[in-house]
Amino acid sequence: MIPVFKNRPACEGIDTDYFFPDENQKYEHKEYLTRICNGCPAKRECLDYALEYMVDGFWAGTTSYYRHRLRRQRGIQGKPVMPEWELHKRGA
Ligand code: SF4
Repeated sequence: MIPVFKNRPACEGIDTDYFFPDENQKYEHKEYLTRICNGCPAKRECLDYALEYMVDGFWAGTTSYYRHRLRRQRGIQGKPVMPEWELHKRGA
C-alpha cells in the first residue's frame, strides 16, 4: 500500500529505484536521497508511516536497518505491510 501524505512529498517524480534499490546497488544515492528527505514537508508523516509499517527501502532519510533500531528504542511493534488486494478483500 502506498501511503498518501497530507503534505506533498519532495520525492514525487524521482525514480523510485533510488529509494528501493536492488541488493547489488544498496543505497548508492544515499546522500542525494538524504538531502531530498531533509527538505521534505512530508518527512514527519513519512517517518511515522515507515516506523508503523515494516516497509523496505529508504523512507524519511532512514534505511530499513536504522528504522529497525528506532523501533526497538521506541518500543514500536512494526506492522506487516498489507498488499492493496488484501485491503480490498477486507473492505478497507
Ligand atoms: S521524507 Fe519520505 S516522502 Fe519525503 S522525500 Fe523522503 S521518502 Fe519521500
